[in-house]
Amino acid sequence: MRIARFLFDGRVKYGIVEGEGIRPLEGTPFEGISPADERLPLGEVKLLSPVSPSKIVALGLNYRDHAEEMKQRLPSEPLIFLKPSTAVIGPEEPIVYPPSVGRLDYEGELAVVVGKKAKDVPPEEAEDYILGYTCFNDVTARDIQRRDGQWTRAKGFDTFAPMGPWIETELDPLDLRLETYLNGQLRQSSHTSRLIFSPYELVSFVSHVMTLLPGDVIATGTPSGVGPMEVGDRVEVVIEGIGRLVNSVIRG
Ligand code: MG
Repeated sequence: MRIARFLFDGRVKYGIVEGEGIRPLEGTPFEGISPADERLPLGEVKLLSPVSPSKIVALGLNYRDHAEEMKQRLPSEPLIFLKPSTAVIGPEEPIVYPPSVGRLDYEGELAVVVGKKAKDVPPEEAEDYILGYTCFNDVTARDIQRRDGQWTRAKGFDTFAPMGPWIETELDPLDLRLETYLNGQLRQSSHTSRLIFSPYELVSFVSHVMTLLPGDVIATGTPSGVGPMEVGDRVEVVIEGIGRLVNSVIRG
């Protein structure tokens, strides 16, 4: 099942995407899913970020190939950082290139959407706390990341957390091709089987640090092939079984 959040007729709702249509939900998918009989054409609604998270927990170095590319040792435990909720944008919304940034990178990632409050969850139960998965772009000011030595500023600008186009709820997260395209050219190509820490291990690990709330997002890290974007570029994160997240870069 594909769950989207959308704007129609001045109202924000969740809905179930079925082919070229969307059936609105009463309330949120976190309270139970009962779609209306009404079906809107997908082309007539504006898709928003599929959730509005209280926090985004992101992973540094969770693919072997990216760790090698960044000349970093493989982590013995997950390295996490936070991106602010105010960085979130949805499909087709512009990534704003801040004037203070010298190099702006894309990082295509699989994101986990938390379905219910999670605290101290064992890995074998983590699946019960996951609503589904979506595409994520961990937009990064690479020059600032290197300069600061910690990542809050480099990862935290407004518009640096594009996600979407929807949440896929029935998916094996360990068996997905992940690709990033820049202006139609393939730049990242990997597979979630190469993740060092699985989505289940990550939900468990993070829930032993901070309580995860419904709608919170865990971005599981990027594979090799990260690179810069320029103003006017169009970036696409494509994940097998989910879909395609498309955003363009505009000048700040
Ligand atoms: Mg990342």
